[in-house]
Amino acid sequence: MEILKKVAIIGSGICGAYLANALAAKYEVYVFEKARGLGGRSASKRQAETSFDYGVSYFSIQDLDLKSFLSGALFHENIELLDRKIIKLDRNDKENSENQIVESFPERTARENTEGGVWEQSTEALFVSKPYGNSFAKTLLKDIKNIFLETRIYGVVKENAGNVVEPRSLNDSKYKLILENAAEFDVDFDIIISTAPAEQTAQIYSKYDDLVKSLSTVKYNPAFVLMFSLKQSAAVFLSPTVSDGISKIRDADILKIKNSIIEEIIFNHKKPLRYSSTPAFVIKASKSFTETNLEMEHALIEEALLNEFFSIMGFDLDSMPELGFKHLHRWLYSTSNNNLEEYVDLRLENLQDCDMISRDDKQESLFLKAENEEIYAVGDYIFEGGENAGIEDCDQGLGTCGVEASLLSARALAQFFLDEQ
Ligand SMILES: Cc1cc2nc3c(=O)[nH]c(=O)nc-3n(C[C@H](O)[C@H](O)[C@H](O)COP(=O)(O)OP(=O)(O)OC[C@H]3O[C@@H](n4cnc5c(N)ncnc54)[C@H](O)[C@@H]3O)c2cc1C
Repeated sequence: MEILKKVAIIGSGICGAYLANALAAKYEVYVFEKARGLGGRSASKRQAETSFDYGVSYFSIQDLDLKSFLSGALFHENIELLDRKIIKLDRNDKENSENQIVESFPERTARENTEGGVWEQSTEALFVSKPYGNSFAKTLLKDIKNIFLETRIYGVVKENAGNVVEPRSLNDSKYKLILENAAEFDVDFDIIISTAPAEQTAQIYSKYDDLVKSLSTVKYNPAFVLMFSLKQSAAVFLSPTVSDGISKIRDADILKIKNSIIEEIIFNHKKPLRYSSTPAFVIKASKSFTETNLEMEHALIEEALLNEFFSIMGFDLDSMPELGFKHLHRWLYSTSNNNLEEYVDLRLENLQDCDMISRDDKQESLFLKAENEEIYAVGDYIFEGGENAGIEDCDQGLGTCGVEASLLSARALAQFFLDEQ
């Protein structure tokens, strides 16, 4: 019987889930996740009949092969290309509900199934995972047997490290994972892949200086995310007495807001398969508000965000609807400061200037590897030497690209292993 190499994947977010799924046919895959559930930053919370996606909301994918992968049978039930109404607001003109709307994108049919079965996606079209934000990762992991939840990895050591051992060739390298209280996980691994955010990966790989040096240059934005539901039904939003501008705003699926302490409002109950009987919102605070108030008491953050939310929605103090469930989450790592599109374009341009560079070399720039070790790092922060291109408009107006960045990085590493065989 063929003995498969053992791969340890640290993290069960979209990146780890993609890799586990891609490598499972040729490797014995183990997934380690420190949290109680799967999905990492594609997190969702269920509360009574309502659910909230408080990490990834929607994601855009430009890469054609990835789009084709997402339109395949595996995701039939769990990923949808979405028709949605997005409105951009500028709160510099908040007194005037008409003027604050700077751009309004009409609802459109985003999904067209072409002959090849690939979804055609307009630049603004967005994918959504259903019925929950983490259904994407869960689908990829559904056939993986060795998943260890609530298992934080603290480090990696080479088997017999510290003892005098026979010199090993690279291919014989075996690694142990270090768990809580310096205990070792009882399996020898041939390959270790961390998909944790850069800072956490640097801690796990602290013995590998070259990796730590690169990883420590990555910076992430923190983000406050407030999720809440209303006690009343959606009818409370459909008052005939409000202006046209406010009606449009209340009828949106997503609001993108400038010059406000809120950056984005997601009408979570309008996503597919969210059977919520009352409106449920996820609001993401602006970067500057989060950074300035990172250590502030949560009750004060909630109050400030809710006041701004109800003002945007055109409710005054006396008419504010009553809240049902409410919870504030503080993400220390939300999106990385590397601009994927600019970064990848830049790298590919540079590589194209070089005659000797093959496609593989380009792919290899999308993951990190410790020198002479079978130790790898992947994630949305893909970079080399930590060039930070400045993320501000990674978004390109509507979508965000963290998920695509993670998938591209994971795919590059998966191809590297699968080509090797
Ligand atoms: C509030 C918010 C909104 C976002 N919105 C969007 C969006 O709309 N569109 C978009 O494309 N992107 C968005 N992003 C970014 C997107 O979430 C990420 O780019 C993507 O989910 C990253 O996936 P990943 O698998 O690479 O990393 P993660 O999802 O972070 O997965 C890493 C996993 O590793 C685990 N882990 C960490 N350390 C250890 C350890 N020591 N041992 C074991 N496990 C460990 C973590 O618990 C986590 O599950 C958003 C992020 C946040 C926080």
